[in-house]
Amino acid sequence: MTDLLTLEDLDLARLRGVPVLVRVDFNVPLKDGGVGDDTRIVEALPTLRELAAAGARLLLVSHCGRPKGERNPKYSLRPVAARLGELLGRPVAFADDCVGAPAAAAAAALGDGDVALLENLRYHKGEEKNDPEFARALAANARAYVDDAFGAAHRAHASIVGVAAQLPRKAAGRLLVREVAALSRLLGEPERPFVAILGGAKIEGKIDTLENLLPRLDVLMVGGGMANTFLAARGYDLKASLVERERLDTAESILRRARENGIEVILPDDLVVADAFEAPSDIRTVGVDEVPDGFLALDVGPRTRAAFKAAIATARTLFWNGPLGVFERPPFDQATRAVAEALADCPGFTLIGGGETVAAAHQAGVADRLGHVSTGGGASLEFLAGLELPGIAALARASAP
Ligand code: AMP
Repeated sequence: MTDLLTLEDLDLARLRGVPVLVRVDFNVPLKDGGVGDDTRIVEALPTLRELAAAGARLLLVSHCGRPKGERNPKYSLRPVAARLGELLGRPVAFADDCVGAPAAAAAAALGDGDVALLENLRYHKGEEKNDPEFARALAANARAYVDDAFGAAHRAHASIVGVAAQLPRKAAGRLLVREVAALSRLLGEPERPFVAILGGAKIEGKIDTLENLLPRLDVLMVGGGMANTFLAARGYDLKASLVERERLDTAESILRRARENGIEVILPDDLVVADAFEAPSDIRTVGVDEVPDGFLALDVGPRTRAAFKAAIATARTLFWNGPLGVFERPPFDQATRAVAEALADCPGFTLIGGGETVAAAHQAGVADRLGHVSTGGGASLEFLAGLELPGIAALARASAP
C-alpha cells in the first residue's frame, strides 16, 4: 500500500496561524440554490475539524460539475459554503474566485481556525490542464497543502498535482488515507472468498478493473446492462437489450480465463424485460433464453437475485460497483435493492464504489452497515485497476535514501 504523508507529517502542533490550502471534493448535486446530497461534504469534516482545531487557517478549493473553464452561476460553490457552515457549526466565508484578489482577500481575513471556501476551480481552464501558472496562483496564499479529495485523485489537475509540487509541506487528509487503506485491502491479501459484483450499463470503462481483479477473485457476479454482453458472448439472443457488440471478445476472454482459473462466474439466469425503455406497457420475467422479440432486459430476475444473495452471504471480502438494473426506474430497482440489503448482512468486509451504487445503498438504507462506502467512483475503479492515481502519487512519502 502506498505510504502517504499524513496530517501527522504536517506537525499539527505547529499549524497555528498557518494558511493551508485544502483540496476537497465538494462535487455535490446543486438544486434550487441549495445542496442536494451532502455526503461528500460530511466526509470531509474530520480533516477540516482537525485542522481548524489546530488553529490552521483553511482555504478550501474544489471543483463542481463541468463548467469547462468558464464562470457559470449554475456551478457556483456558494451554497456549499452555507451548508458547510451549518455542518461545522461555524461561519464559512466564501470568495468568488479561487485565485487572484478575491482569494487573497479571503486568506487575509482568516483568523486562526477559520474556514473560507473558494469558488469552483473549474471556472479556470488552467485547472484541468494542470497549468503551472494556475497552480502557482492557487498556492500563492498558502504555506501548506492538504488533499482530501479522493473522488478527484485520478485527475492530474492543477489543484491535485501542480499545487502539491508548489507546496512541499503537504499531506493527505483523513478521508484520502481511509479510502486508500480500504481499497488496498482488496488488492493486498483479501480474506477469502473474495466476491465482486459488477453492474452498470457497460463493460467499457471497467475493463481494466475487471482484468486486475479477476485473478484475485473467487466469485464474479455480473448484472445490469453489462451482463447482457456476457450473456451474448455465451450465445444468448438478448433481442432489443443493450449489448456491446464490440466487447463480445472481451467478455468471452474473461469467461474463459475465469473457467481456467476456477473462478465462479454468476451471470443472470432470468431477466426482467420490458417492451420499451420509456413508459413500458408490458413487463415480464423470463429466462435468459426466452427474451421476446423487441423486448429489452432492464433488471435481473428473482432466480438471479437469489443466486447473488447466496454468494454474498459466503463472502469474506466483497466489492460492488454498478447497479444491477435500471434502478432509477422502479420496478427495475429490485435486484439492486436486494443486493444492497444482502450486503448489509454480509459477514465479510464490504466495499462499494460509484455514484449510483452508493445512491442505491442509501436508498436501501444500508450505507451505514457496509465496511466502506467510497466517495470516488472513477477513482476507486482506477485504483482497483492497479493504476497509479496522480493524487496519491503526489502525496506518497519519498522512499528512504
Ligand atoms: P455505469 O455508469 O456504467 O455504472 O452505469 C449505470 C447505469 O446503468 C444506470 O444509470 C442504470 O440505469 C444503467 N443500467 C443498469 N442496468 C441496465 C440495463 N439492463 N440496460 C440498460 N441500462 C442499464
